Amino acid sequence: MRSVRIVLFDYDDTLVDVGKARDFARRVVAGRISSLMGVDESVVLNVIRDVEGRMESLGLFDRRVWFERATAELGIKLGIDLINELVRVYWDSWSSRSRLFPETLSVLRQLRACGYRLGIVTNTDGEPGLKRGRIRRDGVHDFFDIIIVAGDDTEHVKPHPEPFIKALQMLGVEGREAVYVGDRVSTDVPGAKAAGMYTVIADRSGSLDIDELSGGSRPDFIINSLSDLPRILGCNR
Ligand SMILES: [Mg+2]
Repeated sequence: MRSVRIVLFDYDDTLVDVGKARDFARRVVAGRISSLMGVDESVVLNVIRDVEGRMESLGLFDRRVWFERATAELGIKLGIDLINELVRVYWDSWSSRSRLFPETLSVLRQLRACGYRLGIVTNTDGEPGLKRGRIRRDGVHDFFDIIIVAGDDTEHVKPHPEPFIKALQMLGVEGREAVYVGDRVSTDVPGAKAAGMYTVIADRSGSLDIDELSGGSRPDFIINSLSDLPRILGCNR
């Protein structure tokens, strides 16, 4: 990766630990629907989780759409005000539990010290401005030369190559001058690779085997922590 001058990151579960935030937000909303409608909370939770998986795989991130679908599948029709209230409660709950990974700031500082330009290519939260607002509130905004929120700033969301190509155009570089770092093979590798970038997957659970991945979804490197990133780029400051 000698030609790399730019390091682009995914956001959720790569720079920021949203596992607990996502679980908590989902549980709070399930609790609300359960008490509003008298449906068992665990039933609501399962339906939300199921809808969430299906929606994400379709690239649909608008929580209004998720909660309308989930309540419809529970046989309930909620008015728009209640749906909006659920969405507000969801993101408030999310924000209260989302944290940067412990190594995030030191890795970003180290890469900057080594002269890399940094960027984020992330998918929309389903509502223009929401994701960018989260990035600002998490306090990392100023590290980045560019932030692309796919779906807000582009027509297509990851894994489509469009947001990656847009990042290269904005920075005025070619694909081989950039590496994209994400946590999810299916979303984070194919589009970046199609745009000619190197790809790195941060696999904190240690469950991926690079030899089992092939073609467009095989990253160049798998690391267990972001802390390993400077080393594989040859940045030793
Ligand atoms: Mg991610």
